Amino acid sequence: MYESIRERITRFLEDIKNPICAEDIARVFEVDVFEVYLHLEHIAKSIRRESSGKKALLMVPPWCRKCGYVFKDLEKPKKPSKCPKCKSEWIEPPKFIIKSLE
Ligand SMILES: [Zn+2]
Repeated sequence: MYESIRERITRFLEDIKNPICAEDIARVFEVDVFEVYLHLEHIAKSIRRESSGKKALLMVPPWCRKCGYVFKDLEKPKKPSKCPKCKSEWIEPPKFIIKSLE
């Protein structure tokens, strides 16, 4: 059966022990990081539906490495370019993992 890259990323995120950033996912699957963020957005929706709410894509929010500001209110998985507090561009990217909610 043909398995799409989105399914492969989903399985990968279910198997890992620690959250991983989109840059590392892009490296593993040899795709563009921009593409990974698009997949993550879809996976976040589909994983809940397909598991009947038993699993979820969790995101460790990005944070500013200069002042420690945490980007808590992101609606979509992405890496902010600049810190709103200190204007630093030294941002630790968000990290992702799929976990069982039970
Ligand atoms: Zn900052």
